[in-house]
Amino acid sequence: MKFRNIFFIIIILISNLFSDEKNKITLQLDWLHQFQFAGYYIAKEKGFYKNYNLNVDIREFSNDINLVDNVLNNESTYSIGKSSLVIDRINNKDIVLLAAIYQTSPITLISLKSSNIKTLHDLKNKKLMITSDAKDAASINSMIKSQGIMSNDIDFIPHSFKLDDLISGKIDAMGCYLSNEPYLLENKNIEFNLFTPSDYGFDFYSGILFTSKNELNKNPKRIKNFYNASIKGWNYAFSNIEETAKLIYEKYNTQNKTLDSLIYEGQVLKKLSKTEEGEYLGFIDYKKIDEIRRLYSVLGFGNNTSIEFNNFIFNSQKVILNKLENNYVKNNKFSLLINKNNRPFSYFDNNQITGIEVDLLKLISKKIDVKYNIIEKPKNPLIFNNLKTNSVHLEFNYSIDQVNLSKTIYSKPLIKIPMGIATSHDKNIITNLSILKGQKLAILKNSHIYKELKSKYNYIDFILVDTKKEAFSLIYKEKVFGFIDNILSLSHHMIKEKLSTVKISGTLPYNLEVRVSTNKENFVLIDVINKMIPLIKSEEREEIAKKYQLIIFEKINDYSWIYKYIFPLLLAILLILVINSKMRKEIRKRKNAEEALKDYANRDSLTKIYNRAKIDSVIEKEIKDFKILKEPFSIIFFDIDDFKLINDNFGHIKGDNVLIKISSLVTVNIRGTDIIGRWGGEEFIIILPKTTSDKAFVFANNLRELISNNNFDINKPLTISVGISEYSENDTKKDLIKRADEAMYYVKKQGKNAVKIL
Ligand code: GH3
Ligand code: MG
Ligand code: MG
Repeated sequence: MKFRNIFFIIIILISNLFSDEKNKITLQLDWLHQFQFAGYYIAKEKGFYKNYNLNVDIREFSNDINLVDNVLNNESTYSIGKSSLVIDRINNKDIVLLAAIYQTSPITLISLKSSNIKTLHDLKNKKLMITSDAKDAASINSMIKSQGIMSNDIDFIPHSFKLDDLISGKIDAMGCYLSNEPYLLENKNIEFNLFTPSDYGFDFYSGILFTSKNELNKNPKRIKNFYNASIKGWNYAFSNIEETAKLIYEKYNTQNKTLDSLIYEGQVLKKLSKTEEGEYLGFIDYKKIDEIRRLYSVLGFGNNTSIEFNNFIFNSQKVILNKLENNYVKNNKFSLLINKNNRPFSYFDNNQITGIEVDLLKLISKKIDVKYNIIEKPKNPLIFNNLKTNSVHLEFNYSIDQVNLSKTIYSKPLIKIPMGIATSHDKNIITNLSILKGQKLAILKNSHIYKELKSKYNYIDFILVDTKKEAFSLIYKEKVFGFIDNILSLSHHMIKEKLSTVKISGTLPYNLEVRVSTNKENFVLIDVINKMIPLIKSEEREEIAKKYQLIIFEKINDYSWIYKYIFPLLLAILLILVINSKMRKEIRKRKNAEEALKDYANRDSLTKIYNRAKIDSVIEKEIKDFKILKEPFSIIFFDIDDFKLINDNFGHIKGDNVLIKISSLVTVNIRGTDIIGRWGGEEFIIILPKTTSDKAFVFANNLRELISNNNFDINKPLTISVGISEYSENDTKKDLIKRADEAMYYVKKQGKNAVKIL
């Protein structure tokens, strides 16, 4: 061999070596091998990574690993983490989130049915085993706290990760994975209860794939490839659970799991990925991240500043296409087939085609660069079949045509529009179809809900009609009670035909779902559209909704109060609500939970009335208000007389009970605007806004009598010594409290059980 040849071979070898080195990357898991990481094993074993020239080393977790630091120090290229990565970001760690495989965390609380823990409140004085890492246990802790249960009510025990501790009764409940422990218990025929944080508004992401900002800056292409191959692996894993479980069983079974348990795990985790509910795999919603951030800040992790999402979430607003999808979109033209008489979805207005379909297509082409034109769909199917163009045909559909399912493929819904019922003006509001027993209701022949309504409400006489016009004329002639259609079509028809004697009298718990369909061979188009759907911003949907809603709408509350809303307010709200109801529900739940948590921080753990910190801040606020409004306010400071004797004679628990009882007795006897709190041991403060000391004196005396006449089960009346002070200009908070305190001590010295103003 000539020297030159050898030289070239060496050069090639060396360059290969380097390119291999460059594409050799590590993925650090946050637990031991199990189905939880299935997509990555699949991407490796099926060669998805290899297709991009990536050589991925998948590493199990061990206790000495710091996931975030490892990524930042380049010890791992990519890593899996939990929602607490949000805290790391707040603490200025330069990490980038790529995908959240689990839209809801699998972490849950489990107890045996035999332990009789039916609600979280039953956990009081019970042993609960959770991980000692407060960040990791955040969802469980918040769920418990949001129920008003105090940390010291529960006996927390560090996690042993042994299910036997639960079975043997050594502990009463434990944190676990929805996808693991329930299976093991089911197999042993042991019944259990689950308390799942997401049910209480604490819906955290889990299985988050992340990397460093450095990787994003230096290897943007590699990130994209790794992301695409991983998501492809995940799609495969969730579509082929048994095959995937088998692969893990054979090649990655470091935990010695059974094949069945891996399959079970896969099934549960697939649900948590929410791909079947229309989410696309791995989707990270910046709104949800922000909610998680706020929740963590309430829990005391990190400050309450917002995060710059653009740099924290990888490509959050762009659709990430793989090679195949990219080529397909680039190399094809698309034609939307429309029906020009389909208000408000597609119709002619001023000789121009318009409608929701047109706007939706515009939206699609904004998110994915597609070239398209719009053509009218021929009425005759034969002509349609011969309609040879060099473009891909797509259509919007309002129901899935079961007959065509072998030829046609449908996207997930782009928008949902509530179904409603139109009647003449004189009819009452319809809250439920069941009140229309024996009535006649018109419905379009091809309505997607006809079959379901007919079987569910067999006591209603459904009259099939061909057109909306026909339906409204039947209403006008009083031949039918009402007409069922989606509320946008109803309202548009009513406006267009100037039907002033009809109205929409109610909505039904059904939606019209607008999807895109195309010929099955163009499945890539549907894949791309499905990827794009979660990226439609709520404002973009709202814009379309607002444009097409134009009608007087009536809605009622439970007391048959009738509120009339003149367009377009309610319809707007309604549409948006339906479209976003899931997200909004989540946000509302979280907000409530957050409120509960905030309140928790203000409460005394024993008596549940406000604590010293809260009383402090209320007094500060009263002083501020005084400076503006100059309205008097007073405080009452009282201390239980000879409380020590109660503890000594009846025990501490009895003493505690007296404190609880007296707190609730006072709480129910003060005005709504008064505020009571526990100042310390057996000392309390009541803040009385808009009250002079004279009035406070009368009130305090009544309270003192009320307490001494109350039975506290201690064989003798319970008395209190009370001091009162009224705020006077230039008092500090300290001055005010000190005067009340001194007044109380004066009473003590004088023989207790009395009231004094200072
Ligand atoms: P006085 O009439 O002078 O106020 O007599 P006293 O016995 O009430 O006085 P002191 O302030 O010396 O005693 C208060 C006692 O209250 C002491 C403490 O053991 C008890 N105590 C404080 N906090 C709690 C609590 O949370 N639970 C119970 N059971 N006892 C408490
Ligand atoms: Mg006392
Ligand atoms: Mg005291």
